[in-house]
Amino acid sequence: MNPLAPAALVTGSSRGIGRGIAVALAAAGHDLLIHYSSRREGAEETAAACDAAARKAGRPVQTRICQADLALAADRHRLVDATREAFGRLDLLVNNAGVAPSVRADLLDASEESFDRLMGINLKGPFFLTQEVARWMVEQAATLPAGSPRPKIISVSSVSAYAPSVNRAEYCLSKAGISMLTALFAARLAEHGISVFEIRPGIIATDMTTPVRERYDRLLRDGFTPINRWGTPEDVARAVVAIAGGAFPFSTGEVFNVDGGFHLRRL
Ligand code: NAP
Repeated sequence: MNPLAPAALVTGSSRGIGRGIAVALAAAGHDLLIHYSSRREGAEETAAACDAAARKAGRPVQTRICQADLALAADRHRLVDATREAFGRLDLLVNNAGVAPSVRADLLDASEESFDRLMGINLKGPFFLTQEVARWMVEQAATLPAGSPRPKIISVSSVSAYAPSVNRAEYCLSKAGISMLTALFAARLAEHGISVFEIRPGIIATDMTTPVRERYDRLLRDGFTPINRWGTPEDVARAVVAIAGGAFPFSTGEVFNVDGGFHLRRL
């Protein structure tokens, strides 16, 4: 282990936005705990991409892979234990993993089963993972020399945290919860120098948006967002790397919109 390298845990880094974040952090010199739920080969591809990016940047990093269903307490503990064992420290947690409803159902037909599934993975998982990691970060922060970089927590929510989609209410509710999670931990951890941020992506080209690609293509053709293109995992990763690098020392609880300007109200 390189004792000088900061260590990051990125949930859901077997593909999509999480992979983009992991690779960009590796290029910026972070050791990486790559997490997946069901696609080990995806996590292995991310690890290879991290190694290549770090070598290209001229500073090799360590990568480890760990499986966990974030809805399950035992799996979350295993993930934190794996990080501790691999690196002995954690400088950055990125709560990125998340799922869309298997079926888009109208609000009046939304099922309790889908609600429980999304809340478990998208909100309960990140909440209790953050709680466990925060306890560890508080211990770490107490041992750090004054003026040295402090651990950080970033959660990936969505424009769905505030923009209602009446055919995926449970997704919107879970993402609105991530906004409050950010505010809560930001308020609680500031006294330890640990800052907490939310990143709100807009429409990003990943497996999650593949089923609705044609609809979003149509919307974008009609000028849906001021910056009129699909977002990429790399767009989100740039925000993460800026935060991780300490670009915002007097900010916490901040929301970063990475949405092509979707949030702007236009007349
Ligand atoms: P994605 O490509 O579908 O990837 C989802 C990730 O979550 C995968 O790594 C997956 O692991 C993991 N995952 C699935 N079920 C899990 C579980 N039970 N426990 C733990 N991890 C699980 O999605 P994405 O588009 O990159 O989205 C990443 C995050 O950004 C999500 O929180 C999503 O809500 C948010 N977001 C996405 C968009 C967008 O347009 N794509 C927009 C706004 C916000 P496996 O690969 O092992 O299945």
